[in-house]
Amino acid sequence: MAGGSTRLRVAIAECKVCETRESTEVQSHEIEMWVMGDEAQTVWPQKSAQEREIVMQSQYARLLNRPFPGPYYICGPCSDKFEEE
Ligand SMILES: [Zn+2]
Repeated sequence: MAGGSTRLRVAIAECKVCETRESTEVQSHEIEMWVMGDEAQTVWPQKSAQEREIVMQSQYARLLNRPFPGPYYICGPCSDKFEEE
């Protein structure tokens, strides 16, 4: 996709367990790359796995148009809790 302008966006994901909202900054062109099919790891190599998870489970998830039941984000502390169980 050529000629797209780059703007800073904030991806927000809400933890399904404790309802904590976490966010991470993304560029609009990065979101475009991701929606067009690039792996999150390729688009955001500088982000941590948890930050990529925020993007993947954010309001932008619906842009992927995938048949999955909406964003499902679990924050770091809650996923640690799950792993212990
Ligand atoms: Zn949580």
